[in-house]
Amino acid sequence: MADEVDHHVHGATATDLTRAEFENLITESDRPVPAWMSAFDSQLGHAILRHCAPVLGLDPHPDPDYYLQRRAELGVTEVNRRLLRAAGIGRYLVETGYRGAELLDPAGMAAASGSPADEILRLEALAEQVAPGDAAGFADRFATVLFARLPLGPSQPPGLPAPGLAPSVPPPSGALASGAPASGLPAPGLAAPELASSGLPASGLPTPGLPAPGLAAPELATYGPPTSSLPTPGTPDHLTPALQMPDSPGPSGWEARDVRVGGGAVVRGLKTIVAYRYGLDFDPRRPTSREVTRAAGRWLRAVDRGRVRLTDPVVMRHLIWTALDTGLPLQFHVGLGDPDVDLRRADPLLLRDFIELAEPTGVPLLLLHCYPFHRHAGLLAHSYPNVHFDVGLAVNHSGARAKAVVAESLETAPFAKLLFSSDAWGPAELHFLGATLWRRAMASVVDGFVAEGEWSRRQADRVTAMIGGENARRVYRLDEHP
Ligand SMILES: [Zn+2]
Repeated sequence: MADEVDHHVHGATATDLTRAEFENLITESDRPVPAWMSAFDSQLGHAILRHCAPVLGLDPHPDPDYYLQRRAELGVTEVNRRLLRAAGIGRYLVETGYRGAELLDPAGMAAASGSPADEILRLEALAEQVAPGDAAGFADRFATVLFARLPLGPSQPPGLPAPGLAPSVPPPSGALASGAPASGLPAPGLAAPELASSGLPASGLPTPGLPAPGLAAPELATYGPPTSSLPTPGTPDHLTPALQMPDSPGPSGWEARDVRVGGGAVVRGLKTIVAYRYGLDFDPRRPTSREVTRAAGRWLRAVDRGRVRLTDPVVMRHLIWTALDTGLPLQFHVGLGDPDVDLRRADPLLLRDFIELAEPTGVPLLLLHCYPFHRHAGLLAHSYPNVHFDVGLAVNHSGARAKAVVAESLETAPFAKLLFSSDAWGPAELHFLGATLWRRAMASVVDGFVAEGEWSRRQADRVTAMIGGENARRVYRLDEHP
């Protein structure tokens, strides 16, 4: 199954683990496992003992101590190699923004698994790295590091809808495909530092790229920067930089540029954890540059006092809208996670207004995990061309019940809108199980449809291949830029 793509995953742990450390990594709770229970007494724990033990040379269902003893004998390098190769994933998209230093980086994942591993950048982590400095310059600093990592040059406008995506959604302006001059855009071939001085793509984007419906120009002028710099709706300036990219190839400097600026892997997408840091009920509109500077000032004063953690919703909205400017697929944490996320504000239905405002950009939005709101995600994916989702993480934690979750994900969503992910973080057992449990659940569910005469075998195989990898290759354009 080398064609499968794990479109949201983190690195495997690169160090040996004690039993307590291992148990704390197989639960989403951030509290220590109480002495009177074991994390192995769970669907995930039982799945590890059932499916991972044979990969380490043991019979299924060993005692946890025996399993961990075997794990220690083999050592983490061999454990990672065995489990990642047995996972059989064809390509990993590795999100590096959470405690990445403790884990294998994309190159390490590729070496251990034998499969290519690209990168997903976490917006909030990137912003926290560039936070120090003046508030007025924050937007430029963030855009400079973000745009320096883009894998696609302006000759391939990434903001355009992928083939078959949103055919009925008109671009926000007729200039989209016309190759109209992109005044204010960095000239192709500009090096990253020059991006900042060119005034784009951050502070030079003074207003909402897509004003809220019903928001009249005078109101924009009231709350935005000086009217003279306001773009008029319908002009090229009104578009985001990604959408403004001219079709004609620019000087070869930009296109041929080494996309591994900063030493990282190829960036295939971006991710936001606004669900953790605020909630999915954020104001969906793009903040003005004045609002961003004011909010950045508040945050940076906290940074000066040692509080780097970004929780300001205005700054995060700016990150999200800047992410849309890149045209790269944007992942949202949705639903289950550790107790740092308030599940009451992690329901994807809260994203409805943002989804609609973002729709004209054609940027795919990937709702991650989603459990227990995966049926809500399925309905959003059903309604909106730009919405995709997965049930990663929930598959691992539901173990022998994973087929119920997978079956529910196959209810109302079009099959082209579902992707496979493991969301594994840490022990390579999670990477292996994410793939193994999903395959078993998927096979069980679609085999049932075939046995009941509802689906043909050909349909079952086709949908399995779509969700396993084909959809990810289309959304992240993996085949166009291998
Ligand atoms: Zn994740």
